[in-house]
Amino acid sequence: MQIAFIAHDRKKDEMVNFVIAYEHVFKHHKLYSTGTTGQRIMEQTGLNIHRFMSGPLGGDQQIGALVAENVLDLIIFLRDPLMAQPHEPDIIALLRLCDVQGIPVATNVATAELLTNSLGRGEFGWRELVHKYKPEDWQP
Ligand code: PGA
Repeated sequence: MQIAFIAHDRKKDEMVNFVIAYEHVFKHHKLYSTGTTGQRIMEQTGLNIHRFMSGPLGGDQQIGALVAENVLDLIIFLRDPLMAQPHEPDIIALLRLCDVQGIPVATNVATAELLTNSLGRGEFGWRELVHKYKPEDWQP
């Protein structure tokens, strides 16, 4: 599966601790992230992550481009709900595209844990089917 990590600044420690706890699951998958989030995770785990640009500089939009093509299977996006972000429009756009494509997205660590446990149990197999059926192929 293809998984993306994004964490706002005050959520980065939480993200790193979360990924350390589930490194045994994530190491079996292809990983992506925004720039600083991925750097922090790679410094403290043995994981290899494809890093896009930093979020405020366009990283959320780069990940959004993969979402638009239904490439990503899971997004863990630890947002800071108590601080305004300069790239708020990019964040809203990314979450909207997740809903367009029906991609699992966790915006807090509790949901991230549930989805990651599901991933670890091999319950994301349905995503293999989704890849084969792009929305434009669907008949009403
Ligand atoms: P960053 O971007 O990982 O480069 O800090 C995350 C964000 O703020 O969207």
